[in-house]
Order: sequence, then structure tokens, then C-alpha cells
Amino acid sequence: MPDRILVVEDEVALRETLEYNLTRQGYRVTTAKDGPRALELARSEQPDLILLDVMLPGLDGFEVCRILRQETNIPILMLTAKVDEIDKVVGLEVGADDYLTKPFSMRELLARVKALLRRVRMLRQELATAPTPGAPSQQLQHDDLVIDLERREVFYRDELLHLKPKEYDLLRFLAENRGKVLSRDRILEEVWGWDYNGGTRTVDVHVRWLREKVEPEPANPVRIVTVRGIGYRFEG
Ligand code: CA
Repeated sequence: MPDRILVVEDEVALRETLEYNLTRQGYRVTTAKDGPRALELARSEQPDLILLDVMLPGLDGFEVCRILRQETNIPILMLTAKVDEIDKVVGLEVGADDYLTKPFSMRELLARVKALLRRVRMLRQELATAPTPGAPSQQLQHDDLVIDLERREVFYRDELLHLKPKEYDLLRFLAENRGKVLSRDRILEEVWGWDYNGGTRTVDVHVRWLREKVEPEPANPVRIVTVRGIGYRFEG
């Protein structure tokens, strides 16, 4: 089954170029030219990846991304044009997985698409090779926080948390290195990979999100502690 990609772009020429090139690479492509239609198609088609332009009629790409993030983990690659947009996406405040700035080369775009899809496939494989239900699974437990490594599930105070893939990866990495000071660069490399170019602010944003979920008082963290000037340390 070919991977399915939803292309959301209001500029006709770019939309058609993207559709043409992605189709030629063997992807199955659906297109939308405004925000509301993008939401509709993302829900009905459940694509494997979404290419999302920021400046769109109806509902902009940030809004679309924010809404979709509440519903799904489909990887989203944002296409940005302006510097302030890049800033927002780099901070990943809207939950995008990656971004590309216009103008970009088709080669670069195809490489990013491929990388994101590969990540998703690896994640699915991990899930598929998870042990059968009922079998004892490997866990990391720190007080009232339980990380099920095989199911990629996290429970806090007996409740299942809804974590994004990167939030889970980050939490797992921190928890596996309990008590150690981890620099932002090290975290970025381990969790996002050496080829990620979003910058260390990504780490801070994800830590902030995680704290909202796993700290009794997110404003006064006792579990994911900031080590000034360096990075973070996980306290069990
Ligand atoms: Ca546009």
C-alpha cells in the first residue's frame, strides 16, 4: 500500500507541483486548498502524512495543525514563508513535526517526507512487535509515574496520558537516565536525531508540555528539573 499524503496549499502552481512530484514518487496524494477542507480530508482519509501550508484561506495552517493535534498523531510537515511563522513552528507550539521554509527544493521536500514517513513506520513496527496482551511488559516506574516501554504507554496516578510520540520518546529518555544531567544538545540528538534542524528550543517546548502532564505542580517541577545553563535532569 502506498503512503498517502494530504497536500494543503492554496497556491495552485505549488499545489500542482507538489502533487505531481509526490505522485511520481509513488505516493497517493489528496489535495486541499483551504483550512476547513484540510480538516475534513484529514479526518475522512486518515493520510499517513500532511503537508500543511501556513497562509491559507478559511483557517490558517497553525489552527489546522492545532486542531488536528488534539485528534491525531499523523505527522505534519509545515510549509512556512515568513520569519515569524518559522519562529512559531520551530518552537513547535502548534505541534508540527517538522517544517520547511519557502522557497524549498523539491529534493529537500521529498527527503523530509521520506524521513518523517520512515519514523512513523518504525514506530508502527515497534507497536506491532509488542508482546501479546496479558504478557508481562517492561516498565519504568517512578513513584506514581509508570512508563510501559513495550506498549509506549504512560500512566500518571493510574491514568493513561495522551502523549505525542516525541513527548513519549523524551520522557522515556529522561527517565532512563534518571539523576543524570542531560544537555539540550544531547537530548535533541538522542530524541530527535542528528539530522533534526529545529534547534534546542524544541526540547524546552516539549519539556514544558511534559511538565503539564507529569508534574504535580507544573510551575514548580520536581520530576523534570531544569539544570541552569545546561539542560534537564529527571528525578525519580
Ligand atoms: Ca499559502
